Amino acid sequence: MSSTEMIGVDASGSERPMRPCSGAGIGCGQVDDHPRHVLDDGTEDPPQYHLDCHAAAGCAHCREQLAGAEGATGAALLDHLAGPGASAAPADTTSED
Ligand SMILES: [Zn+2]
Ligand SMILES: [Zn+2]
Repeated sequence: MSSTEMIGVDASGSERPMRPCSGAGIGCGQVDDHPRHVLDDGTEDPPQYHLDCHAAAGCAHCREQLAGAEGATGAALLDHLAGPGASAAPADTTSED
C-alpha cells in the first residue's frame, strides 16, 4: 500500500465535514466527506447529494461536473474535480435549482 495516492484526506485538519448523501429517492445515504451538490433552498439543512448520485437522478449541473469522469466516485472523483496537479480539495458545488 502506498500513501501517496490519498486525495483530500487530512486527519489533522478535518476541513471537510462528514455528511450524509441525503434526500428521499435520490441520495444513497452514505456518510462521507466527498463533494456534494448542495441544493441551497434557504433552510438550515438543505438537501445535498453526491454528484454521481444526483447526476444519476437527472441533475444537469452534476452531469456537467462529472463530464469526463464517468464512473468516478469518492477519491477518484475528488481527483477529477481538483484537476491534475491541484493541491486543494474542490469545494462543494451549489445551485438554487
Ligand atoms: Zn450518494
Ligand atoms: Zn446536482
